[in-house]
Amino acid sequence: MGQDATPTHARSTRILFGLVFGLALGLIAGGLLPESSQPQLSWWIDQVVQPAGRVFLRIIFMVVVPLILSAIVLGTMEMGDLRTLGRVGTRTLLLTLLLSTLSVGIALALVNTLSPGTAMPESSRKALISTYGGASRTSIERGTRSQPVATTLLNFIPENPLAEAVNSFNPENTGGGLMAVMVFSLFVGFAMTVAPREKTLVLRGFFEGMFEISMVIIGFALRLAPYGVACLGFAVAARLGFDLFRTLGFYTGVVLLGLALQQFVVYPAVLRFTGHSPMAFFRGAKEAIVTAFSTSSSNATLPVSLRVAEQDLKIPPRIARFVLTVGASANQNGTALYEGVTVLFLAQVFGVELSLTQQVVVALMCIMAGIGTAGVPGGSLPLVVGVLLSINVPAEAIAIILGIDRFLDMCRTALNVTGDLVIATVVSPESLPSKA
Ligand code: ASP
Repeated sequence: MGQDATPTHARSTRILFGLVFGLALGLIAGGLLPESSQPQLSWWIDQVVQPAGRVFLRIIFMVVVPLILSAIVLGTMEMGDLRTLGRVGTRTLLLTLLLSTLSVGIALALVNTLSPGTAMPESSRKALISTYGGASRTSIERGTRSQPVATTLLNFIPENPLAEAVNSFNPENTGGGLMAVMVFSLFVGFAMTVAPREKTLVLRGFFEGMFEISMVIIGFALRLAPYGVACLGFAVAARLGFDLFRTLGFYTGVVLLGLALQQFVVYPAVLRFTGHSPMAFFRGAKEAIVTAFSTSSSNATLPVSLRVAEQDLKIPPRIARFVLTVGASANQNGTALYEGVTVLFLAQVFGVELSLTQQVVVALMCIMAGIGTAGVPGGSLPLVVGVLLSINVPAEAIAIILGIDRFLDMCRTALNVTGDLVIATVVSPESLPSKA
């Protein structure tokens, strides 16, 4: 991501190493130090380890708003360009929305029924909340004074987008927050596709520049991530012990189950419903899916996706090129599902009660975040951080998940790319045969 020259694979290995190192040290310190030394350990964690661990996260927080603004404006513009494809474009747009909604719906259903975040014993949960300060407590209090649904919905259309951007992470903000910023970005992006192109070129360049700069800064932050993750891992393991691993395993299982449902139930159903053979589809798409899995990047997989679309799935090149290029960044079902599970899981862990309306808001944010996520390894990380901050779940908790992110990224990217190919297959008039 960004201009960081470190290969992403090496970087994620370092982050994983950082996490394992921090966790191991934390377990040893928490388990072996005598009871009498625990106050000193706590002091050390609060005054030194945690602040050091937060540095890389603060750098990410810094660019969340500009990143979301520019990414959603640019993503919406690309989607808007689909109009040049006429009916095919409209169908692509509708399918993108439908599949993203279904994937986030799966996330919501799974987290609510399986409750992976509440599997942690109460004492450990309390320790975690105290480790990460008062942010979640504020939101627990805030959750009890929820607004009427109509007001919440109306607040999504900001009267003053700038004020919403400034206050999007302020727990006292009663406006639409980050969601309002996202809606504003959607409007700007859509308006830019309608306005005369030559008049908006400079602004387009401005948003492209803003996006690139945000990514470069996130690249800087990720260079520090292995050390930060080690510190945060140490802090959490020293206070939680082995309970942490059980919860983390449960969370990973829920993400994988959700991805599998979308991949092996929803997509085949959509293909069959539209008269295509799922077997023939998966046989044709196999190479792109495997590439996505191994690169964790929809963008890097694009050349392979284009080849299999044209050669194996028999999708006309004009449609394949357009739908897959836009889809690589704007249609990310796996990412939307992962973001939904992660945000709701962490809300559960931190005891942040989300009402149904608030959950729907999270779902909408995840759908929009899916439009704005860059198709690169870890592209969804800043957006998850943004959504977490906006519902006042301590975003530091993402550090633990970051340690195992590479594997989940491989899986969700495979789904992202499959989703793009499903859409391209369904919308093209003549693609693969209906029998396997
Ligand atoms: N790695 C994903 C992709 O390229 C994006 C993400 O979810 O981080 O599709």
